[in-house]
Amino acid sequence: MELSWPKLLTAISSCRRCRLCDSRTNTVPGEGNIQSALMFIGEGPGRDEDITGRPFVGAAGSLLEKALHAIGHSRDSVYIANVVKCRPPDNRAPAPDEVAACLFYLRAQVALIRPKVIVLLGASALKAVLGPDARVTRDRGHWVTRKGVRIMPTFHPAALLRDEDKKRPFWEDMKKIRDAVNEL
Ligand code: URA
Repeated sequence: MELSWPKLLTAISSCRRCRLCDSRTNTVPGEGNIQSALMFIGEGPGRDEDITGRPFVGAAGSLLEKALHAIGHSRDSVYIANVVKCRPPDNRAPAPDEVAACLFYLRAQVALIRPKVIVLLGASALKAVLGPDARVTRDRGHWVTRKGVRIMPTFHPAALLRDEDKKRPFWEDMKKIRDAVNEL
């Protein structure tokens, strides 16, 4: 059975399915256009996101916004979500059991939005959606189709801030995403 948006958002905001609820300030369900054909999935909230309750508002978020504008989109025209909805302490990656506990919400979001193109930002998103054997360096830039949805794995914007060499391949991936959406 499909959850309605209000029920889903209420369930997320009061979630106690894993230990991350103990240290969160706010849940970060995701935001944007719930009718968008294009959805981005990151890892999980960082400090700024935990404080504001909004996804990708820190330095990585600025970079994502720039990339979105470069391909003719904005934060409001796409939907932006994360694998986990609560901040993992000390900016660590979410643990497998935390991802497993939270995946229900991401699946519900995908079921409600029904995007045609999904962009996976970084290893946590890649592994959560495509399976534990997925690898960003190997799989990025290659389309995968699941249940009629085109999925593009690429680098997480935070990785670009640490390593300039990732900028060019990331941009190549963004152009593929732009073209795929324009062809819809
Ligand atoms: N990194 C993520 O993966 N998600 C956010 O919301 C912010 C930073």
